[in-house]
Amino acid sequence: MADIESGSRFDYVIVGAGSAGCVLASRLTEDPNITVALLEAGGKNESLLVKMPAGVGNLIATKGATNWGFETVPQQFLDGRRLYQPRGRGWGGSSAINGMIYIRGHARDYDQWRQTGLTGWGYADVLPYFKRAQHHEDGADAWNAEGGPLWVSRGPPGDPIYKAFIQAGKQAGFPVTRDFNGYQQEGVGPYHLTIRDGERWSASAAYLRPILASRPNLRVISNAHAGRIVIENNKAVGVEFSAGPGKPVQTVRAAREVLVCGGAFQSPQLLMLSGIGPADEITKHGIKVVADLPEVGRNLQDHLDVCLINEMTKPISMYSKTKGLKQPMIGLQYLLSKQGPGRTNHLHAGAFLKTRGELDRPDIQLHVVNAQMRDHARIKADRDAFTIHACQLRPESRGTVKLASSNPFDAPAIDPRYLAEENDRRTMRDSVRIMRDIVAQKALDLYRGAEFAPGAHIRTDAEIDAWVRQNAETIYHPVGTVRMGADAKAPVDDQLRVRGVEGLRVIDASVMPTLIGGNTNAPTIMIAEKLSDILRGKPLLPPQDARIAEDEMAGAV
Ligand SMILES: Cc1cc2nc3c(=O)[nH]c(=O)nc-3n(C[C@H](O)[C@H](O)[C@H](O)COP(=O)(O)OP(=O)(O)OC[C@H]3O[C@@H](n4cnc5c(N)ncnc54)[C@H](O)[C@@H]3O)c2cc1C
Repeated sequence: MADIESGSRFDYVIVGAGSAGCVLASRLTEDPNITVALLEAGGKNESLLVKMPAGVGNLIATKGATNWGFETVPQQFLDGRRLYQPRGRGWGGSSAINGMIYIRGHARDYDQWRQTGLTGWGYADVLPYFKRAQHHEDGADAWNAEGGPLWVSRGPPGDPIYKAFIQAGKQAGFPVTRDFNGYQQEGVGPYHLTIRDGERWSASAAYLRPILASRPNLRVISNAHAGRIVIENNKAVGVEFSAGPGKPVQTVRAAREVLVCGGAFQSPQLLMLSGIGPADEITKHGIKVVADLPEVGRNLQDHLDVCLINEMTKPISMYSKTKGLKQPMIGLQYLLSKQGPGRTNHLHAGAFLKTRGELDRPDIQLHVVNAQMRDHARIKADRDAFTIHACQLRPESRGTVKLASSNPFDAPAIDPRYLAEENDRRTMRDSVRIMRDIVAQKALDLYRGAEFAPGAHIRTDAEIDAWVRQNAETIYHPVGTVRMGADAKAPVDDQLRVRGVEGLRVIDASVMPTLIGGNTNAPTIMIAEKLSDILRGKPLLPPQDARIAEDEMAGAV
């Protein structure tokens, strides 16, 4: 049981110490007059694997204390497969198990949000919040900043395969870009990473741990699984939680507001468990309806991903580097000196590309890994190889999160409906051909062995489509299940207030109305940064225009 008196009262109760929850807990308690309780279902996430960037593969692959390890329902358009869905649990949430790639998405993604009536969410409006969060080790420029809690580093040059990939991309005719978050997203280039001095810089490392000792107005309650938001007279006044099935239920009260930050699967689940969501879905599970919001749990979007794997002609992949006793030695070296292969994530290069010339921004993203990556690293590598991931950035398919039962400890029913739309299938097919084209370039001659997956025999559209159906997996960016919108049907408004219930907001990846073109940690942190100003009644940071390539091409600058 948590060491807190049931019925204790705070100004704000935050559910979920993930990317968004850590930011809010930290920013709100900068004001000593504001009290906050931060409830987190998991623990403190103090293991070496969380701290050591190279531990990422293990964290993703292993369901347990730091990873909820969900599964989707059988996917109709992926031959009925259930897809694995890792999600972070414990302090830092998914930022404690993620790939540490620092990406904001394309400027146009936010402009598109603004164009739907979401005032204050255009690129110029959100850029100052990305920057306030950030400390870039390279220093400040028009797009990057110094002094924020979230450390961003360029990472070491890493293995030669990354440089060769960038060179090969150039030879295939793509531009090279030094900073995907800067002037031009489109191109091949190096990733910038949320790693500080060889340590994973999760939202917990950035925002929560540094303030713990000095903020008596913040109470972090671990192993506290929220099962219901307490609503009285149509106002959220507290949260019920417990340490696990059969354990006593306690209540913590919120004098001002309850802030739900459980992530794109569990925030809609908690709302529905509390009677907020589609009335038919809620009543089916014997739960009393508090607010009939049909779109809670709808609009699920995620980045579906396929891997092109080539054998490597040189023994320089992670397979050779971690063989036998080498792996424990890497851990030991890291433990003793924070040096060696443990201090990075081994994800140093990638690309944002267009599958068709007429697009106004890249529609696929590549991630290069110096290893044979199969099934989220759940299948052990058995040879030297390198992997290129490709995901479609803005899928048209929309899925759902529903209740599987009224038991808060049951996983929600996750149905992303991947590849329900033809354009999504076409994009995945094209991405396989684009990856093959890059790999065929001269710069990779030194390393390229036989194609391991899909395999050289997979050639025609029909063969590639069938292979995609059998092999595509998530690359971990679900959003949109409690979408923010200016229209009355959107579950939350532009200040992330839940419609129809007072004193309740959802602040996390679930509020993104559409998927942004890139990884979703920095955008989630940006959303929470901005909301912290709104909650504190502070003036919003003034908009900042920073040039991007597309503006210039369109003659707008
Ligand atoms: C394996 C993986 C790799 C990724 N790689 C990258 C990457 O390289 N770069 C990038 O930018 N993004 C990446 N992402 C995505 C990014 O990390 C997430 O989009 C982001 O962390 C989401 O933040 P959030 O606040 O919405 O949710 P989360 O960070 O998932 O936080 C939700 C928190 O709420 C807690 N919680 C849930 N339900 C309850 C409840 N009922 N009671 C109490 N607590 C609860 C959870 O335990 C969790 O701690 C990755 C994600 C994963 C899973």
